Amino acid sequence: MSNAPRPPIESGCPDGFQYMHPMMRKHYGTWDYHEDPQPGVLKHVAKNGDSIYTVRAGTQRILDVFTLRKLCDIGDEYADGHVHFTIRSNIEYMVDDESRVQPLIDKLTEEGFIVGGTRNSVAMISHTQGWLHCDIPGTDASGVVKSMMDELIDEFKNWNMPNRVHLTTSCCQINCGGQGDIAINVQHTKPPKINHDLVSNVCERPSVVARCPVAAIRPAMVDGKPSLEVDEKKCICCGACFPPCPPMQINDAEHSKLAIWIGGNHSNARSKPTFQKLVAAGIPNNPPRWPEATAIVKKILKVYKEDAKDWERINDWVERIGWPRFFELTELPFTKFHIDNWRGARNSLNASAHIRF
Ligand code: SF4
Ligand code: SF4
Repeated sequence: MSNAPRPPIESGCPDGFQYMHPMMRKHYGTWDYHEDPQPGVLKHVAKNGDSIYTVRAGTQRILDVFTLRKLCDIGDEYADGHVHFTIRSNIEYMVDDESRVQPLIDKLTEEGFIVGGTRNSVAMISHTQGWLHCDIPGTDASGVVKSMMDELIDEFKNWNMPNRVHLTTSCCQINCGGQGDIAINVQHTKPPKINHDLVSNVCERPSVVARCPVAAIRPAMVDGKPSLEVDEKKCICCGACFPPCPPMQINDAEHSKLAIWIGGNHSNARSKPTFQKLVAAGIPNNPPRWPEATAIVKKILKVYKEDAKDWERINDWVERIGWPRFFELTELPFTKFHIDNWRGARNSLNASAHIRF
């Protein structure tokens, strides 16, 4: 018997090159330039003069199989049979002949899909898995996305903004929803309520205790049964204890709110990458249309559109005019909640040039 180690079983995502449009494979990494002929359409030109057109349409991210088949059939009939999805849930079709662009757009529109989301538009909101895949949602991110994109459809279809606007949502307070020009995130405002009857049967108490970032959870005996207790003075209402222990109920119809953060930017094309900052807190988490949160996002976009210079991203614009002016223009109240006075931050945030491990 061989002593060779067993080879690993690769179960990650497959090599994307095999699915790529042949023209994209041929010129991978060697495109000369690209243009935006019209909203929702990109044109890439290679050094030898070859060109390829990409048509982008928004989708609802969590796609049912019928819609997916319909989108694929459109790809087979009106494009060259190759599609890909962007991280913001848009589907993109590639054609290497300009005359096929308009019939493809017409077909997508006829089937109810919206073409757009390129250049200085408001991109589709990047949103998270929610109730479908994840164990910590505090709200229904997909519903927020649907209601907001319904109201922002013209900004998705057209190039009205000074620069690109990325929106993100999260359905919990701790993981996916960060770093957008505008982020709509859950905000819990009360410590979890513990269902002591369930803790002893459902939860591994040490892993719940270990999960708390501020060491607010302790093992405790309640009515003679092993359970947990929360030091409410320490608790920052993050919700991290809920996934390993669902009896730590943090979701609450009244006290789980939404908060809006702006100015997060990974890109360093024109300025340094930036963290997003809180601009509105305690917004009602108000299904099914979330009118309060949508009104604030629309207001921020309106002021940004009117006041920013061409090519300024939201963070560049606020940096130029200053935060006091931002609050003046948007008429959002500046409250004590905007001041980061959490004492633990001195340990958890890098406030100096020292590297910590
Ligand atoms: S935002 Fe939170 S709850 Fe939603 S998918 Fe991401 S980790 Fe899960
Ligand atoms: S909500 Fe967060 S801070 Fe509060 S007890 Fe749970 S893990 Fe700790």
